Amino acid sequence: MITPDVPPQGGYLAKQCPVRAQWDVIRPTEPRPDSPVLERRFARGREFEQQIVARLIDLHPGALIIAPGERADREADTLAAMRAAVPLILGGRLPTDLIGRRVGEPDLLIPADDQAGYRAVDIKHHRCLDADPGRPPAHCSPLHHLGWAAAAPVPGSAARNRREDLLQLAHYQRMLEAAGMAAGDGRLGGIIGVDRVVAWYDLDAALGRQERRSAMQVYDAEFEFRLQVLAAAAEHLADPDRPLLVEPARISECPECPWWSWCGPQLQTGPGDVSLLPRVGWRARRMHRDHGVTNRAELAALDHRTATLVADGVDLRPIIAALGTLPDDTPITAVVGARKRAQRARLAGAGIRTLHQARALGKSTAAYADQPMRDLPEQIDLARAALGGAPAYRRRGVRRVEVPRGDVEVDIDLENVEDGVYLWGTLVTIRSPGWAGGPAGYRAFCRWAPMTAAVETGLFAEFWAWLAGLRGVAAETGRTFRAYCYNAAAEGGQLRRLAAATDLTDEVAAFTSSADWVDLLRVFDTQLITGSSTGLKAVARLCGFTWAVQDPGGGESMLHYDQAVGAADPAAAQAARDWLLAYNRDDVAAALALRDWLDQTASSYPPIEVLGT
Ligand code: SF4
Repeated sequence: MITPDVPPQGGYLAKQCPVRAQWDVIRPTEPRPDSPVLERRFARGREFEQQIVARLIDLHPGALIIAPGERADREADTLAAMRAAVPLILGGRLPTDLIGRRVGEPDLLIPADDQAGYRAVDIKHHRCLDADPGRPPAHCSPLHHLGWAAAAPVPGSAARNRREDLLQLAHYQRMLEAAGMAAGDGRLGGIIGVDRVVAWYDLDAALGRQERRSAMQVYDAEFEFRLQVLAAAAEHLADPDRPLLVEPARISECPECPWWSWCGPQLQTGPGDVSLLPRVGWRARRMHRDHGVTNRAELAALDHRTATLVADGVDLRPIIAALGTLPDDTPITAVVGARKRAQRARLAGAGIRTLHQARALGKSTAAYADQPMRDLPEQIDLARAALGGAPAYRRRGVRRVEVPRGDVEVDIDLENVEDGVYLWGTLVTIRSPGWAGGPAGYRAFCRWAPMTAAVETGLFAEFWAWLAGLRGVAAETGRTFRAYCYNAAAEGGQLRRLAAATDLTDEVAAFTSSADWVDLLRVFDTQLITGSSTGLKAVARLCGFTWAVQDPGGGESMLHYDQAVGAADPAAAQAARDWLLAYNRDDVAAALALRDWLDQTASSYPPIEVLGT
């Protein structure tokens, strides 16, 4: 039950960290100011929104822009416009939903096809469409004909299900429903991204591959939960004996959160919170707490062999309960049951055929059988690696670290902004005598012109022709060829998208599915474990590589890009371009240094088994 102390909230509430919502009320310390990188993102987002709105006004003479003013006036104007069936409402403010405790300002309100009710559309400065022929095509409508009726499938292109976008649209949907102005023929919302079309989303469809609940269901649960968090925080503020509902956990939002200066030290105290481990999120953290595991040391102390059985679906609870109750020579079959063949086979594989042998199982680890986590053994190894004395360990079963090498090697690293890729950096290494197919060393394919689709595809075509030519010469001269990236999810996604835009889909797909295309992140991650970030900046430290530029990182590179293409002072623009090229050159050099280290040194690192079986 929500107390009246919680004022109506915007859609951001559902998509943000609940702890952040709590600290926004409590204000346990001075929040960190927004970083320049974050400020830039906000500013570019506002500029993009203004561009799109200007374009929409040109295209839709009948559009109504809700004038700035008092919130109540804007809400009344928006409601009146919807009741008058205005064909496009820009900058509106939906009537405050006092029962649902919602406020919201969708960028666009578009009438349903039958003019009964409206749909919300937001403008976001990011890409909404991926090239993905394997998924159902995105349904998009053009800016000159915005409505769902004009939407058509875009073959080979799938809509990105960005959770934060969909929860925002679900928030507007609930507000439209509360106002009696929601379209009656389906819960749909749209996003206009840098693709410059309306990408439509069915808010009653599953939110994503890992989330079967619909966007509406997830939104309802998340928004309601955060309202409870806010209510508890308000009560705690009035009476510190009243408990808070949530506590910090390290999530992807933390690095840019104003409260990291408060949460970070708490999480890093002592052996450190389990959420500091890669891929250990809210859910896993809560399950560990349920089992009395509150930090990385306690997680590291769990029994790996027992965890493997739990992860494989073996219910160890009856076995643990039988210890000391039944005789030690009782066959496991008598405890597990004759029908559970798969479980018995897994136990036998682990050398457990009698209760006596089961005594070696870890009781506290076996207790996880009530909520089995498939990656519990991995989490235990991550915790051990994080707290172990070596900077990295070989994974279980890895005797020698292997990395594919070639006679001709090319490290590839792209740099992009929201609107597209402006730089493909390459580093050619020749490891075969007699090569005359082109020079070794760094080569950058870049454009410093303002980003347009033509600029981006022209650059990609140039880069691709060079890469394909080099690969072709290597093949003709009987040499092996390898091209490396660090994290194929990033590079591969851009390759697919730009290949589709340049009629190179089959050619690029043949390359990226071949052994010639190597993801060094995967090479690293499948053979080594550190318990911390596996980003290139982090793992390059293992081989002693450092970047020449200050503050190397994707966020900083965007700040420099703005200067490189937009600075009025030519010297400032040149300095920014030099920074970006030096940064990119070191990114590919770091990948080469890491590869050499993987090849020559990494095998001498200890196996993770030295920290416990
Ligand atoms: S630092 Fe992380 S856990 Fe803390 S409020 Fe921010 S996002 Fe949430």
